[in-house]
Amino acid sequence: MTPDIDATAKLHATVRGRVLAPGDADFDEARRVWNGMIDKHPRLIVQAASADDVAPVIAFARATGLPLAIRGGGHNVAGNGTVDDGIVLDLGRLNGVEVDPGARLVRVEAGATLGDIDRATEPHALAVPVGVVSGTGIAGLTLGGGVGWLIRRHGLTIDNLVSAEVVLATGERVRASDAENADLFWGLRGGGRNFGVVTSFTFRAHPLDQDVFAGTLIYERPRWAEALRAYVEWTAGAPDDVTTLITFMVPPVDWELGDRPLMFMGFAWAGANRAEGEVEIDRLRAACAPDASVLDPTRWLAFQSAFDAAMPKGVRAWWRNASFDRLDGPMIDAIVEHCGAQAWVGTAADLHHMGGAFSRVAEDATPFPNRAAQFWLNIYGFWADPADDAARIAWVKGFSSAMQPHAMAGQYVNFLGHEDAATGGDDGARRKALEAYGPAKLERLAAVKRRYDPDNLFRINHNIPPTA
Ligand SMILES: Cc1cc2nc3c(=O)[nH]c(=O)nc-3n(C[C@H](O)[C@H](O)[C@H](O)COP(=O)(O)OP(=O)(O)OC[C@H]3O[C@@H](n4cnc5c(N)ncnc54)[C@H](O)[C@@H]3O)c2cc1C
Repeated sequence: MTPDIDATAKLHATVRGRVLAPGDADFDEARRVWNGMIDKHPRLIVQAASADDVAPVIAFARATGLPLAIRGGGHNVAGNGTVDDGIVLDLGRLNGVEVDPGARLVRVEAGATLGDIDRATEPHALAVPVGVVSGTGIAGLTLGGGVGWLIRRHGLTIDNLVSAEVVLATGERVRASDAENADLFWGLRGGGRNFGVVTSFTFRAHPLDQDVFAGTLIYERPRWAEALRAYVEWTAGAPDDVTTLITFMVPPVDWELGDRPLMFMGFAWAGANRAEGEVEIDRLRAACAPDASVLDPTRWLAFQSAFDAAMPKGVRAWWRNASFDRLDGPMIDAIVEHCGAQAWVGTAADLHHMGGAFSRVAEDATPFPNRAAQFWLNIYGFWADPADDAARIAWVKGFSSAMQPHAMAGQYVNFLGHEDAATGGDDGARRKALEAYGPAKLERLAAVKRRYDPDNLFRINHNIPPTA
C-alpha cells in the first residue's frame, strides 16, 4: 500500500464533503472554472461541507506533497482555483451569510458569491462594498482587494473587512483582525491567498436604499473623446457619494443602437439624499450629453447583476489592469483609438473613477497598491472561439502597452492573467510580486509568509515566496 493510498483513505474517512476523482460523474463539471481557457486536470477535488473539512485536506496535501489549489467562486482569470495533478479544495458550498443589522456586521462563509451577500443584505437596506458581477467569489475578490460601485463612498472590500477566520498550513484555526494576528490581517488585505485558507469573513455594511439612483449614459463612437474630456472635468468636482465606471464594449445582446462598440458611462449614487445625486448627474449630462440613457428605477440587486449576462462561465479571457493619477488628452486619445478598434462582441475595457474613500486609506495600511490612483483601467478581453485567442490577446496586449507609459507602478493581482503567472520558480514569482506590490510591501508580505507559511504550501496563486 503506497502512502498515497493511505492518505487518500484517511482523507475519505475524515472529511464530510464530497471527494471527487477523475471518472466520477460530476468530476468534469467540478474541475471547470470561469475562464474557459483554463483546462486543468486535478487528481482530486474536495467539495468541503464545513470549515472542519479544511484541516484534513491541508494534512493530505502535506502528506502527499501534491500541490493544493483553493477555490472560492472560481472566477480568478489566471485559473488559480484549480491545478494540474494536484488537489482542489472547493469551498463553494460554504456560502452562508449572516447579517446583524443592529451592528451592521455581515459574516460571510468563504464560498459565498457577491450575489449571496447582496441577497442577504438588501432586505435590511444595507450593502457591503463588493464587485460588479454577482457570480464572483467573495474570497478571491476580498483577498486581492475588491473594487465596485461603492468604492468612492466606502472604499475597497478590504477597507470594510473587520476580521477573518483562517486555517493555517499547520491546520491550526486562527482569527485575524486589528487586535488578533494583526500582521496576518494586514497581509490578507491584498496579498491574501498566500497565508492560509480563509473560512469566513466579517464585513462592515452600510445603509443603502433597496432602490438605488443608478443608471447608464450611452455614447456613440464619434463622441467618445469629447465626452471623456468633459467627464474628466466633471470628476474633479464629483462628490464621494457618486461612483462612475465607464465600459467600452460591443454589447452581447440586441441593442437598438446596433452591434458596434459603445461607451457606457455607468453611475451609482450611494448618498442618503437622492435629490443631490440627481443634481450631480444632471451636471454630468449637461457636460457631455449622451446619445441615449438608461435611468429607470433600479433595484440594487438588479444593478449588481447587470453585467452578469455579458460574462458567462466558460468564456475565454485574458486581462490586464493599470492605474493612473490623471486622465489627460494623450491618454484619452489612446483609449478611444484602442476601444474603437474593438469591433467584436465581448472584448471590452472598464475605466473606473477612483479617489474618495479609497484614497483616504493610508498607502501602508494594506498591501493593495496605489491609493493615489484617480483612474483605473481594466482591459478585460473575453471571447467565445479558441480560434480568436491570438487576435484577442494581441488586442489586450497592444492596448495595455499603449497605456503603460502613463501608468503608475503596481498591479491589481485580481486582474493578472495566467500568462502573468511567474515562470522561473521563486525568482520569477518574486519579480512578479515586486511588480504588483513594490519593494517595501513585498518585504513586509514575505515576512508574514515566513511566519504563517514558511514551506510555501499555499503557492497556487500570485505567489509571495517566503524568501522574497
Ligand atoms: C466576470 C468577473 C467579474 C469580476 N468583477 C470584479 C469586480 O467588479 N471587482 C473586482 O475587484 N474584481 C473583479 N473580478 C476579479 C475577481 O476579484 C478575481 O477574479 C477573484 O480572484 C475572484 O475570486 P473567486 O473566489 O471567484 O476566485 P477563485 O478562482 O476561486 O480564487 C481566486 C484566488 O483566491 C484563492 N482563494 C480562493 N478562496 C480562498 C480562500 N478561502 N482562502 C485562501 N485563498 C483563497 C485561490 O486559491 C485563487 O488564488 C472579476 C472577475 C470576473 C471573472
